[in-house]
Amino acid sequence: MATIFSRIVKGEIPCYKIAEDERFFAFMDINPVAVGHTLVIPKREDDYIFNLGDEELGAMMVFAKKVAKALEKAVPCKRIGVAVIGLEVPHAHIHLIPIRQESDMDFKKEHVHMTEDEFREVQQRIVENL
Ligand code: 5GP
Repeated sequence: MATIFSRIVKGEIPCYKIAEDERFFAFMDINPVAVGHTLVIPKREDDYIFNLGDEELGAMMVFAKKVAKALEKAVPCKRIGVAVIGLEVPHAHIHLIPIRQESDMDFKKEHVHMTEDEFREVQQRIVENL
């Protein structure tokens, strides 16, 4: 069965898309820990990031770097934090999170609540900076 992220790539489930190329896809996390929290995935399903081949993993990081650079410009922050968890969705993904301090990476703290309009506005700002 296709993962929820594969269904997002196919357009079966809506998302706030940030970028895609032939192999990778970036979209905003629906339950963000910070404004601008974005996920980068390979379109090809693999449940664990460190099962990806060296070339694919490297290319995914380079794709994530482009997204991170746009995020940095679009959202006030000091840096873009990078996290890999993958306990919830069995489809390799990298979390890109705009941070000002270490605690901004805390997945256990209360997440940010964003309206659809707020998601769209941030999405647009990120996309404009790509
Ligand atoms: P992890 O697998 O790294 O523990 O967490 C999966 C992440 O995917 C979570 O941050 C969660 O909010 C996000 N997520 C889960 N389902 C969806 C979805 O349907 N759409 C979007 N945009 N994000 C999702």
